Amino acid sequence: MTAQTVQQGDLVTVIGLEVHVQLETDTKIFCGCSTEQTDEPNENVCPVCLGLPGSLPVLNEAAVEAAVKIGKAIDADIPEETRFHRKNYYYPDLPKNFQITQYDEPICADGELEVAVEGTRRTITIERAHLEEDPGSLQHVGGGIDTADYTLVNYNRAGTPLMEIVTAPDFRSPDEVRAFLAELEEVLEYLGVFDAERDGSLRIDANLSIIPDEEIDGDGDEIGEEALAAANRTEVKNISSHKGAQKALAYEETRQKNAIQRGRAVEQETRHWDEARGITVSMRSKEEEKDYRYFEEADLPPLRVSGWKDEIAIPELPSARRERFRAEYDLDEEAASKLTSTKQVADFYETVASEFDPDLAATWVADNLLGELNYRDMEIVGIEGRLEEVTRLVELVATDEITAKNARETVLRSMLDDGRTPDEVVAEEGLGKTDEDDVQEAVVEAIDENPDAVADYEAGEDGAINFLVGQVMQKTGGSADPGDVNQLLRAELEG
Ligand SMILES: [Zn+2]
Repeated sequence: MTAQTVQQGDLVTVIGLEVHVQLETDTKIFCGCSTEQTDEPNENVCPVCLGLPGSLPVLNEAAVEAAVKIGKAIDADIPEETRFHRKNYYYPDLPKNFQITQYDEPICADGELEVAVEGTRRTITIERAHLEEDPGSLQHVGGGIDTADYTLVNYNRAGTPLMEIVTAPDFRSPDEVRAFLAELEEVLEYLGVFDAERDGSLRIDANLSIIPDEEIDGDGDEIGEEALAAANRTEVKNISSHKGAQKALAYEETRQKNAIQRGRAVEQETRHWDEARGITVSMRSKEEEKDYRYFEEADLPPLRVSGWKDEIAIPELPSARRERFRAEYDLDEEAASKLTSTKQVADFYETVASEFDPDLAATWVADNLLGELNYRDMEIVGIEGRLEEVTRLVELVATDEITAKNARETVLRSMLDDGRTPDEVVAEEGLGKTDEDDVQEAVVEAIDENPDAVADYEAGEDGAINFLVGQVMQKTGGSADPGDVNQLLRAELEG
Protein backbone atom coordinates (compact mmCIF):
# COMPACT_ATOMS: atom_id res chain seq x y z
CA MET A 1 0.00 0.00 0.00
CA THR A 2 1.52 3.34 -0.98
CA ALA A 3 0.76 6.83 0.24
CA GLN A 4 -0.77 7.63 -3.12
CA THR A 5 -3.42 4.96 -2.94
CA VAL A 6 -4.53 5.60 0.63
CA GLN A 7 -6.37 8.73 1.62
CA GLN A 8 -5.64 10.31 4.97
CA GLY A 9 -8.10 8.97 7.47
CA ASP A 10 -8.66 5.69 5.65
CA LEU A 11 -9.30 2.61 7.73
CA VAL A 12 -7.32 -0.58 7.43
CA THR A 13 -8.59 -4.03 8.31
CA VAL A 14 -6.37 -6.22 10.47
CA ILE A 15 -7.18 -9.90 10.91
CA GLY A 16 -5.51 -12.72 12.80
CA LEU A 17 -6.59 -16.35 12.90
CA GLU A 18 -6.72 -19.28 15.24
CA VAL A 19 -7.32 -22.37 13.15
CA HIS A 20 -8.25 -25.61 14.88
CA VAL A 21 -7.37 -28.62 12.81
CA GLN A 22 -8.41 -32.15 13.75
CA LEU A 23 -5.46 -34.45 13.20
CA GLU A 24 -6.23 -37.67 11.39
CA THR A 25 -5.26 -40.37 13.87
CA ASP A 26 -6.96 -43.69 14.60
CA THR A 27 -7.28 -43.01 18.31
CA LYS A 28 -7.72 -39.98 20.55
CA ILE A 29 -4.82 -37.91 21.83
CA PHE A 30 -4.78 -39.14 25.45
CA CYS A 31 -6.66 -42.47 25.37
CA GLY A 32 -7.25 -45.46 23.09
CA CYS A 33 -10.81 -44.51 22.07
CA SER A 34 -11.51 -44.46 18.35
CA THR A 35 -11.72 -41.06 16.63
CA GLU A 36 -14.19 -42.41 14.10
CA GLN A 37 -17.33 -40.33 13.68
CA THR A 38 -20.37 -42.45 14.48
CA ASP A 39 -24.07 -41.71 14.51
CA GLU A 40 -24.48 -43.11 18.01
CA PRO A 41 -23.71 -40.39 20.59
CA ASN A 42 -21.32 -41.07 23.47
CA GLU A 43 -20.15 -44.37 22.02
CA ASN A 44 -16.39 -43.81 21.71
CA VAL A 45 -15.73 -42.80 25.30
CA CYS A 46 -13.77 -44.06 28.30
CA PRO A 47 -12.88 -42.78 31.79
CA VAL A 48 -9.98 -40.68 30.37
CA CYS A 49 -11.92 -38.72 27.76
CA LEU A 50 -14.93 -38.47 30.08
CA GLY A 51 -12.63 -36.94 32.71
CA LEU A 52 -13.58 -39.43 35.43
CA PRO A 53 -11.64 -39.12 38.69
CA GLY A 54 -8.41 -41.10 38.85
CA SER A 55 -8.02 -41.58 35.09
CA LEU A 56 -4.66 -40.68 33.59
CA PRO A 57 -3.81 -39.41 30.10
CA VAL A 58 -1.26 -41.18 27.86
CA LEU A 59 0.02 -39.18 24.90
CA ASN A 60 -0.64 -40.60 21.40
CA GLU A 61 2.61 -40.78 19.40
CA ALA A 62 0.75 -40.44 16.08
CA ALA A 63 -0.61 -37.04 17.13
CA VAL A 64 2.89 -35.81 17.96
CA GLU A 65 4.20 -37.11 14.65
CA ALA A 66 1.45 -35.23 12.80
CA ALA A 67 2.31 -32.06 14.74
CA VAL A 68 5.99 -32.38 13.82
CA LYS A 69 5.05 -32.79 10.15
CA ILE A 70 2.98 -29.61 10.30
CA GLY A 71 5.87 -27.81 12.02
CA LYS A 72 8.26 -28.85 9.26
CA ALA A 73 5.80 -27.86 6.54
CA ILE A 74 5.39 -24.33 7.93
CA ASP A 75 9.12 -24.04 8.58
CA ALA A 76 8.59 -23.59 12.31
CA ASP A 77 10.99 -24.03 15.20
CA ILE A 78 10.33 -27.35 16.92
CA PRO A 79 11.98 -27.12 20.33
CA GLU A 80 13.81 -30.00 21.96
CA GLU A 81 11.35 -30.12 24.79
CA THR A 82 7.76 -28.99 25.09
CA ARG A 83 5.13 -29.28 27.75
CA PHE A 84 1.39 -29.57 28.29
CA HIS A 85 -0.75 -27.27 30.42
CA ARG A 86 -4.26 -27.29 31.79
CA LYS A 87 -6.53 -24.53 30.57
CA ASN A 88 -9.25 -24.22 33.17
CA TYR A 89 -12.78 -23.33 32.24
CA TYR A 90 -16.21 -24.77 32.73
CA TYR A 91 -18.35 -25.62 29.75
CA PRO A 92 -20.65 -28.61 29.25
CA ASP A 93 -18.58 -30.00 26.37
CA LEU A 94 -15.49 -30.20 28.58
CA PRO A 95 -15.98 -33.02 31.09
CA LYS A 96 -12.76 -32.46 33.08
CA ASN A 97 -13.41 -28.72 33.55
CA PHE A 98 -10.03 -28.15 31.98
CA GLN A 99 -8.59 -28.72 28.54
CA ILE A 100 -5.14 -30.25 28.15
CA THR A 101 -3.33 -27.92 25.80
CA GLN A 102 0.05 -26.26 25.39
CA TYR A 103 0.82 -22.80 26.72
CA ASP A 104 4.24 -21.17 26.84
CA GLU A 105 6.11 -24.09 25.26
CA PRO A 106 4.19 -25.07 22.11
CA ILE A 107 5.49 -27.80 19.81
CA CYS A 108 5.83 -25.35 16.88
CA ALA A 109 6.75 -21.68 16.99
CA ASP A 110 7.57 -18.97 14.50
CA GLY A 111 6.55 -20.56 11.21
CA GLU A 112 5.15 -19.11 8.03
CA LEU A 113 3.03 -19.90 5.02
CA GLU A 114 3.09 -18.11 1.69
CA VAL A 115 -0.17 -17.37 -0.09
CA ALA A 116 -0.99 -15.84 -3.44
CA VAL A 117 -3.94 -13.47 -3.60
CA GLU A 118 -4.80 -12.20 -7.07
CA GLY A 119 -1.22 -12.63 -8.21
CA THR A 120 0.38 -10.98 -5.17
CA ARG A 121 2.41 -13.23 -2.89
CA ARG A 122 2.22 -12.64 0.85
CA THR A 123 3.93 -14.40 3.69
CA ILE A 124 1.73 -14.97 6.71
CA THR A 125 3.58 -15.47 9.99
CA ILE A 126 2.40 -18.38 12.09
CA GLU A 127 3.23 -17.39 15.63
CA ARG A 128 2.65 -20.82 17.07
CA ALA A 129 0.97 -24.15 16.56
CA HIS A 130 0.22 -26.36 19.52
CA LEU A 131 -1.35 -29.69 20.36
CA GLU A 132 -4.50 -29.97 22.41
CA GLU A 133 -7.59 -32.08 22.90
CA ASP A 134 -10.90 -31.34 21.23
CA PRO A 135 -13.87 -30.82 23.54
CA GLY A 136 -17.10 -32.75 22.99
CA SER A 137 -19.78 -31.36 20.72
CA LEU A 138 -23.07 -29.68 21.56
CA GLN A 139 -26.31 -30.07 19.66
CA HIS A 140 -28.72 -27.21 20.15
CA VAL A 141 -32.30 -28.42 19.83
CA GLY A 142 -35.13 -26.14 18.74
CA GLY A 143 -32.98 -23.16 17.73
CA GLY A 144 -29.51 -21.68 17.47
CA ILE A 145 -26.96 -21.24 20.25
CA ASP A 146 -28.91 -18.30 21.67
CA THR A 147 -32.44 -19.56 21.10
CA ALA A 148 -32.42 -23.37 21.60
CA ASP A 149 -34.97 -25.08 23.88
CA TYR A 150 -32.26 -27.35 25.23
CA THR A 151 -28.82 -28.66 24.31
CA LEU A 152 -27.47 -32.21 24.03
CA VAL A 153 -23.82 -33.06 24.60
CA ASN A 154 -21.89 -35.77 22.78
CA TYR A 155 -18.43 -36.76 24.04
CA ASN A 156 -17.43 -38.84 21.00
CA ARG A 157 -15.34 -35.90 19.82
CA ALA A 158 -13.82 -35.20 23.26
CA GLY A 159 -10.11 -36.03 23.11
CA THR A 160 -9.73 -35.95 19.33
CA PRO A 161 -6.26 -34.53 18.67
CA LEU A 162 -6.26 -30.91 17.58
CA MET A 163 -3.57 -28.64 16.29
CA GLU A 164 -4.30 -25.00 17.00
CA ILE A 165 -2.52 -22.82 14.47
CA VAL A 166 -2.23 -19.17 15.47
CA THR A 167 -1.24 -16.54 12.93
CA ALA A 168 0.11 -13.04 13.45
CA PRO A 169 -2.40 -10.27 12.61
CA ASP A 170 -1.03 -10.27 9.06
CA PHE A 171 -4.22 -10.39 7.01
CA ARG A 172 -5.56 -7.20 5.45
CA SER A 173 -8.73 -8.59 3.87
CA PRO A 174 -11.20 -11.47 4.12
CA ASP A 175 -9.99 -12.61 0.67
CA GLU A 176 -6.48 -13.12 2.02
CA VAL A 177 -7.92 -15.22 4.84
CA ARG A 178 -9.75 -17.42 2.37
CA ALA A 179 -6.62 -17.91 0.26
CA PHE A 180 -4.59 -18.77 3.35
CA LEU A 181 -7.11 -21.35 4.56
CA ALA A 182 -7.20 -23.00 1.13
CA GLU A 183 -3.40 -23.18 1.04
CA LEU A 184 -3.22 -24.45 4.62
CA GLU A 185 -5.77 -27.15 3.91
CA GLU A 186 -3.84 -28.27 0.83
CA VAL A 187 -0.64 -28.51 2.87
CA LEU A 188 -2.36 -30.50 5.61
CA GLU A 189 -3.85 -32.90 3.08
CA TYR A 190 -0.48 -33.40 1.40
CA LEU A 191 0.97 -34.26 4.80
CA GLY A 192 -1.75 -36.88 5.25
CA VAL A 193 -2.64 -35.51 8.69
CA PHE A 194 -6.03 -34.08 7.86
CA ASP A 195 -9.32 -35.12 6.31
CA ALA A 196 -11.16 -32.16 4.82
CA GLU A 197 -14.27 -34.26 4.22
CA ARG A 198 -14.67 -34.92 7.90
CA ASP A 199 -17.38 -32.88 9.56
CA GLY A 200 -15.88 -30.18 11.79
CA SER A 201 -12.27 -31.02 10.93
CA LEU A 202 -11.41 -27.34 10.38
CA ARG A 203 -12.73 -24.69 12.75
CA ILE A 204 -11.72 -21.09 12.71
CA ASP A 205 -11.77 -18.26 15.21
CA ALA A 206 -10.84 -14.94 13.69
CA ASN A 207 -10.10 -11.63 15.35
CA LEU A 208 -10.66 -8.47 13.42
CA SER A 209 -9.98 -4.85 14.15
CA ILE A 210 -10.07 -1.65 12.16
CA ILE A 211 -7.09 0.67 12.44
CA PRO A 212 -6.49 4.15 11.01
CA ASP A 213 -4.02 3.86 8.16
CA GLU A 214 -1.60 6.39 9.74
CA GLU A 215 -0.64 3.57 12.09
CA ILE A 216 0.53 1.36 9.23
CA ASP A 217 4.07 1.59 7.91
CA GLY A 218 4.89 2.20 4.26
CA ASP A 219 4.46 -1.29 2.85
CA GLY A 220 1.21 -2.02 4.59
CA ASP A 221 2.53 -4.93 6.60
CA GLU A 222 3.85 -3.52 9.81
CA ILE A 223 1.44 -2.23 12.38
CA GLY A 224 2.53 -0.44 15.51
CA GLU A 225 1.90 -2.62 18.55
CA GLU A 226 0.39 0.34 20.35
CA ALA A 227 -2.13 0.93 17.60
CA LEU A 228 -3.08 -2.71 17.64
CA ALA A 229 -3.44 -2.73 21.40
CA ALA A 230 -5.50 0.45 21.33
CA ALA A 231 -7.97 -0.80 18.74
CA ASN A 232 -10.85 -2.82 20.06
CA ARG A 233 -11.18 -6.10 18.30
CA THR A 234 -13.83 -8.73 18.08
CA GLU A 235 -13.25 -12.42 17.98
CA VAL A 236 -15.59 -14.26 15.64
CA LYS A 237 -16.17 -17.89 16.54
CA ASN A 238 -17.91 -20.86 14.95
CA ILE A 239 -16.54 -20.51 11.43
CA SER A 240 -16.15 -23.87 9.72
CA SER A 241 -15.13 -23.25 6.11
CA HIS A 242 -13.03 -20.99 3.86
CA LYS A 243 -16.14 -19.48 2.39
CA GLY A 244 -17.68 -19.05 5.83
CA ALA A 245 -14.54 -17.24 7.03
CA GLN A 246 -14.64 -14.86 4.10
CA LYS A 247 -18.33 -14.11 4.59
CA ALA A 248 -18.16 -13.76 8.38
CA LEU A 249 -15.15 -11.43 8.19
CA ALA A 250 -16.61 -9.34 5.38
CA TYR A 251 -19.72 -8.88 7.53
CA GLU A 252 -17.67 -7.99 10.59
CA GLU A 253 -15.44 -5.61 8.63
CA THR A 254 -18.47 -3.67 7.38
CA ARG A 255 -20.11 -3.66 10.79
CA GLN A 256 -17.03 -2.20 12.50
CA LYS A 257 -16.28 0.36 9.78
CA ASN A 258 -19.87 1.56 9.89
CA ALA A 259 -19.68 1.94 13.66
CA ILE A 260 -16.42 3.90 13.49
CA GLN A 261 -17.64 6.16 10.68
CA ARG A 262 -20.71 6.97 12.74
CA GLY A 263 -18.52 7.81 15.72
CA ARG A 264 -19.54 4.80 17.77
CA ALA A 265 -17.08 2.64 19.70
CA VAL A 266 -16.46 -0.99 18.71
CA GLU A 267 -16.96 -3.26 21.70
CA GLN A 268 -14.20 -5.72 22.55
CA GLU A 269 -16.19 -8.92 22.52
CA THR A 270 -16.68 -12.44 21.23
CA ARG A 271 -19.18 -12.85 18.43
CA HIS A 272 -20.76 -15.95 17.01
CA TRP A 273 -21.01 -16.46 13.23
CA ASP A 274 -24.57 -17.45 12.41
CA GLU A 275 -24.07 -19.16 9.06
CA ALA A 276 -27.79 -19.51 8.32
CA ARG A 277 -28.54 -15.83 8.92
CA GLY A 278 -25.23 -14.58 7.49
CA ILE A 279 -24.52 -12.31 10.48
CA THR A 280 -22.33 -12.24 13.57
CA VAL A 281 -24.07 -11.98 16.94
CA SER A 282 -22.64 -10.82 20.27
CA MET A 283 -21.97 -13.66 22.73
CA ARG A 284 -20.03 -12.46 25.73
CA SER A 285 -17.18 -10.19 26.60
CA LYS A 286 -13.94 -11.90 25.68
CA GLU A 287 -12.10 -13.87 28.35
CA GLU A 288 -8.56 -12.87 29.01
CA GLU A 289 -5.69 -15.24 29.35
CA LYS A 290 -5.57 -14.84 33.12
CA ASP A 291 -9.15 -16.10 33.36
CA TYR A 292 -8.00 -19.56 32.34
CA ARG A 293 -5.52 -20.04 35.22
CA TYR A 294 -3.09 -22.08 33.13
CA PHE A 295 -0.90 -24.46 35.06
CA GLU A 296 1.33 -27.36 34.14
CA GLU A 297 -0.30 -30.71 33.45
CA ALA A 298 1.39 -32.82 36.11
CA ASP A 299 -0.04 -36.07 34.73
CA LEU A 300 2.05 -35.78 31.56
CA PRO A 301 5.85 -35.62 31.56
CA PRO A 302 7.61 -33.02 29.38
CA LEU A 303 7.59 -34.08 25.72
CA ARG A 304 11.01 -34.51 24.10
CA VAL A 305 11.02 -34.83 20.32
CA SER A 306 14.71 -33.98 19.84
CA GLY A 307 16.30 -36.76 17.75
CA TRP A 308 13.07 -38.41 16.65
CA LYS A 309 11.83 -35.35 14.78
CA ASP A 310 14.67 -35.66 12.25
CA GLU A 311 13.41 -39.10 11.23
CA ILE A 312 9.96 -37.76 10.35
CA ALA A 313 9.84 -37.03 6.62
CA ILE A 314 7.36 -34.83 4.80
CA PRO A 315 6.42 -35.05 1.12
CA GLU A 316 6.91 -32.37 -1.52
CA LEU A 317 4.42 -29.62 -0.62
CA PRO A 318 1.81 -28.07 -2.92
CA SER A 319 3.68 -24.81 -3.63
CA ALA A 320 6.92 -26.63 -4.54
CA ARG A 321 5.01 -29.15 -6.62
CA ARG A 322 3.16 -26.37 -8.50
CA GLU A 323 6.48 -24.76 -9.41
CA ARG A 324 7.97 -28.08 -10.48
CA PHE A 325 4.92 -28.94 -12.61
CA ARG A 326 5.19 -25.60 -14.40
CA ALA A 327 8.88 -26.13 -15.15
CA GLU A 328 8.87 -29.87 -15.83
CA TYR A 329 5.65 -30.20 -17.82
CA ASP A 330 5.47 -26.67 -19.18
CA LEU A 331 2.03 -26.04 -17.69
CA ASP A 332 0.40 -22.66 -17.22
CA GLU A 333 -0.34 -21.43 -13.71
CA GLU A 334 -4.01 -22.39 -13.79
CA ALA A 335 -3.36 -25.96 -14.92
CA ALA A 336 -0.51 -26.40 -12.44
CA SER A 337 -2.72 -25.11 -9.68
CA LYS A 338 -5.61 -27.46 -10.56
CA LEU A 339 -3.27 -30.43 -10.92
CA THR A 340 -1.75 -29.91 -7.48
CA SER A 341 -5.00 -29.14 -5.68
CA THR A 342 -4.75 -32.43 -3.82
CA LYS A 343 -1.94 -34.93 -3.53
CA GLN A 344 -4.08 -37.63 -5.17
CA VAL A 345 -4.72 -35.44 -8.21
CA ALA A 346 -1.04 -34.54 -8.52
CA ASP A 347 0.08 -38.15 -8.15
CA PHE A 348 -2.41 -39.29 -10.75
CA TYR A 349 -1.37 -36.57 -13.18
CA GLU A 350 2.25 -37.63 -12.89
CA THR A 351 1.30 -41.26 -13.53
CA VAL A 352 -0.56 -40.32 -16.72
CA ALA A 353 2.10 -37.80 -17.82
CA SER A 354 4.81 -40.46 -17.46
CA GLU A 355 3.05 -42.64 -20.06
CA PHE A 356 1.56 -40.12 -22.45
CA ASP A 357 2.09 -36.59 -23.68
CA PRO A 358 2.04 -34.27 -20.59
CA ASP A 359 -0.23 -31.81 -22.43
CA LEU A 360 -2.75 -34.53 -23.23
CA ALA A 361 -2.47 -35.76 -19.63
CA ALA A 362 -3.11 -32.23 -18.33
CA THR A 363 -6.22 -31.83 -20.51
CA TRP A 364 -7.53 -35.18 -19.37
CA VAL A 365 -6.87 -34.84 -15.66
CA ALA A 366 -7.33 -31.09 -15.07
CA ASP A 367 -10.17 -30.39 -17.48
CA ASN A 368 -12.03 -33.57 -18.40
CA LEU A 369 -11.74 -35.74 -15.30
CA LEU A 370 -11.88 -33.01 -12.62
CA GLY A 371 -14.60 -31.22 -14.58
CA GLU A 372 -16.84 -34.29 -14.75
CA LEU A 373 -16.13 -35.19 -11.11
CA ASN A 374 -16.88 -31.66 -10.00
CA TYR A 375 -20.15 -31.70 -11.94
CA ARG A 376 -21.15 -34.84 -10.01
CA ASP A 377 -19.95 -33.39 -6.70
CA MET A 378 -17.30 -36.12 -6.51
CA GLU A 379 -13.61 -36.10 -5.62
CA ILE A 380 -10.77 -38.08 -7.10
CA VAL A 381 -10.46 -40.06 -3.85
CA GLY A 382 -13.94 -41.41 -4.55
CA ILE A 383 -12.74 -43.19 -7.71
CA GLU A 384 -9.28 -44.15 -6.51
CA GLY A 385 -9.85 -47.80 -7.43
CA ARG A 386 -10.72 -46.86 -11.01
CA LEU A 387 -7.87 -44.56 -11.97
CA GLU A 388 -6.32 -47.29 -14.11
CA GLU A 389 -9.50 -47.22 -16.18
CA VAL A 390 -9.09 -43.47 -16.68
CA THR A 391 -5.50 -44.07 -17.77
CA ARG A 392 -6.76 -46.69 -20.22
CA LEU A 393 -9.21 -44.12 -21.60
CA VAL A 394 -6.37 -41.64 -22.17
CA GLU A 395 -4.50 -44.46 -23.92
CA LEU A 396 -7.46 -45.05 -26.27
CA VAL A 397 -7.29 -41.37 -27.23
CA ALA A 398 -3.49 -41.24 -27.44
CA THR A 399 -3.39 -44.28 -29.72
CA ASP A 400 -6.15 -42.84 -31.91
CA GLU A 401 -8.60 -45.66 -31.26
CA ILE A 402 -11.46 -43.34 -30.38
CA THR A 403 -12.06 -39.64 -30.91
CA ALA A 404 -11.33 -37.19 -28.12
CA LYS A 405 -14.93 -36.00 -28.34
CA ASN A 406 -16.38 -39.50 -27.87
CA ALA A 407 -13.89 -40.22 -25.11
CA ARG A 408 -14.88 -37.09 -23.23
CA GLU A 409 -18.60 -36.92 -23.89
CA THR A 410 -19.58 -40.57 -23.96
CA VAL A 411 -16.96 -42.89 -22.48
CA LEU A 412 -15.88 -40.85 -19.45
CA ARG A 413 -19.45 -39.93 -18.54
CA SER A 414 -20.65 -43.54 -18.87
CA MET A 415 -17.74 -44.70 -16.74
CA LEU A 416 -18.76 -42.33 -13.96
CA ASP A 417 -22.50 -42.74 -14.33
CA ASP A 418 -22.92 -46.47 -14.84
CA GLY A 419 -19.59 -47.89 -13.78
CA ARG A 420 -18.62 -49.48 -17.11
CA THR A 421 -14.96 -49.77 -18.15
CA PRO A 422 -13.80 -47.71 -21.14
CA ASP A 423 -13.38 -50.80 -23.30
CA GLU A 424 -16.92 -51.93 -22.47
CA VAL A 425 -18.35 -48.53 -23.38
CA VAL A 426 -16.39 -48.41 -26.64
CA ALA A 427 -17.50 -51.94 -27.64
CA GLU A 428 -21.12 -51.60 -26.52
CA GLU A 429 -21.65 -48.17 -28.05
CA GLY A 430 -19.64 -48.95 -31.19
CA LEU A 431 -17.31 -46.01 -30.69
CA GLY A 432 -14.26 -47.41 -32.48
CA LYS A 433 -12.82 -44.70 -34.67
CA THR A 434 -14.05 -44.61 -38.29
CA ASP A 435 -12.63 -42.91 -41.36
CA GLU A 436 -15.32 -40.24 -40.99
CA ASP A 437 -14.16 -39.56 -37.44
CA ASP A 438 -10.61 -39.07 -38.74
CA VAL A 439 -11.81 -36.59 -41.35
CA GLN A 440 -13.95 -34.71 -38.81
CA GLU A 441 -10.97 -34.45 -36.42
CA ALA A 442 -8.77 -33.21 -39.24
CA VAL A 443 -11.41 -30.56 -40.01
CA VAL A 444 -11.42 -29.30 -36.41
CA GLU A 445 -7.61 -29.29 -36.30
CA ALA A 446 -7.30 -27.41 -39.60
CA ILE A 447 -9.66 -24.72 -38.28
CA ASP A 448 -7.80 -24.45 -34.95
CA GLU A 449 -4.40 -24.23 -36.62
CA ASN A 450 -5.27 -21.64 -39.28
CA PRO A 451 -6.97 -18.65 -37.66
CA ASP A 452 -5.95 -16.34 -40.53
CA ALA A 453 -7.73 -18.43 -43.15
CA VAL A 454 -10.77 -18.68 -40.86
CA ALA A 455 -10.79 -14.89 -40.45
CA ASP A 456 -10.57 -14.44 -44.25
CA TYR A 457 -13.47 -16.86 -44.73
CA GLU A 458 -15.53 -15.07 -42.13
CA ALA A 459 -14.74 -11.75 -43.81
CA GLY A 460 -16.46 -13.10 -46.91
CA GLU A 461 -13.41 -14.39 -48.80
CA ASP A 462 -14.88 -17.65 -49.97
CA GLY A 463 -11.61 -18.76 -51.57
CA ALA A 464 -10.11 -19.24 -48.08
CA ILE A 465 -12.09 -22.44 -47.79
CA ASN A 466 -9.94 -24.01 -50.49
CA PHE A 467 -6.84 -23.47 -48.41
CA LEU A 468 -8.49 -25.23 -45.46
CA VAL A 469 -9.65 -28.09 -47.68
CA GLY A 470 -6.02 -28.52 -48.74
CA GLN A 471 -4.93 -28.68 -45.10
CA VAL A 472 -7.48 -31.38 -44.31
CA MET A 473 -6.49 -33.39 -47.40
CA GLN A 474 -2.90 -33.25 -46.22
CA LYS A 475 -3.81 -34.43 -42.73
CA THR A 476 -5.83 -37.35 -44.04
CA GLY A 477 -3.15 -38.38 -46.52
CA GLY A 478 -5.46 -37.55 -49.42
CA SER A 479 -7.97 -40.26 -48.50
CA ALA A 480 -10.91 -37.92 -47.90
CA ASP A 481 -13.33 -36.68 -50.53
CA PRO A 482 -12.64 -32.95 -51.15
CA GLY A 483 -16.32 -32.23 -51.72
CA ASP A 484 -17.26 -33.78 -48.36
CA VAL A 485 -14.42 -31.94 -46.65
CA ASN A 486 -15.68 -28.68 -48.10
CA GLN A 487 -19.14 -29.36 -46.64
CA LEU A 488 -17.76 -30.44 -43.26
CA LEU A 489 -15.58 -27.31 -43.03
CA ARG A 490 -18.51 -25.02 -43.84
CA ALA A 491 -20.72 -26.81 -41.31
CA GLU A 492 -18.05 -26.50 -38.60
CA LEU A 493 -17.36 -22.82 -39.41
CA GLU A 494 -21.04 -21.92 -39.45
CA GLY A 495 -21.69 -23.81 -36.20
ZN1 LIG B 1 -11.38 -42.29 25.73
